[in-house]
Amino acid sequence: MQVHVLASGSTGNATFIKMGNTKMLVDAGISARRIKNSLAELGTAVEELDGIFITHEHRDHINGLPTLTKKYKLPVYAKAATFDSMYCREILPESCCKVIGDSIDISGVKVEPFSISHDAADPVGYSLYHQNLKCSVATDIGFVTDSVKKAISYSDVLVFESNHDVDLLKNGAYPWHLKRRIMSNRGHLSNTDAAWTIARMARQKHTKVFLAHLSQENNRPEIAENTVRNILTEQGCELNVDIDIRLTYPDKTASLTEG
Ligand SMILES: [Zn+2]
Ligand SMILES: [Zn+2]
Repeated sequence: MQVHVLASGSTGNATFIKMGNTKMLVDAGISARRIKNSLAELGTAVEELDGIFITHEHRDHINGLPTLTKKYKLPVYAKAATFDSMYCREILPESCCKVIGDSIDISGVKVEPFSISHDAADPVGYSLYHQNLKCSVATDIGFVTDSVKKAISYSDVLVFESNHDVDLLKNGAYPWHLKRRIMSNRGHLSNTDAAWTIARMARQKHTKVFLAHLSQENNRPEIAENTVRNILTEQGCELNVDIDIRLTYPDKTASLTEG
């Protein structure tokens, strides 16, 4: 299994996951050109993608869709309400839009959406399974519900939101309504909440975690990483043995290979 977070944050999100011979994207919130170029650097042509799984309709998750569907005819999977709420719904070719139910099998990879709490129509995260490996992607989560805890458990690789430092957000320049939205149950997850969730998640073996959707305004990569590492250590997790923590970036790919 290969997991490449091509871009992460409010300027655009896209994660490329290869399991067996199946090649998938979770979200396509950067331009089709950038996705094509990032995949080319990894030796993959954009035409080889077997499917694009969309978490929710916010533009930082779907901006590449018009071109990816029109030019490359790639299949897009999303919840019905998510399709209905997309700014670009009218221009997506009908043949590319596939409503996802409880789960779908794509050439031996099982892809399972799970509900998350966020201010969108029907937002989801995804768990992907192939042979004995599991990868989960959960970003844009206001708070961690029991269903999220269950869905991410026993993931070998987890892409998980670590959006903001609460003090930076509170003391920062954002207007109060925006601060309130981010901190709400349907907003974004703080570094501390991410850390506690990772520390407590059920796992069997070494788990690799990408910290994702870092705010450029209300977070710093080193603050996110240190906050999570400190809480994990305090909670008795051995870093690099039990859990690996990695950062993701708005403008470059973060990669790992597992199994
Ligand atoms: Zn987002
Ligand atoms: Zn969002």
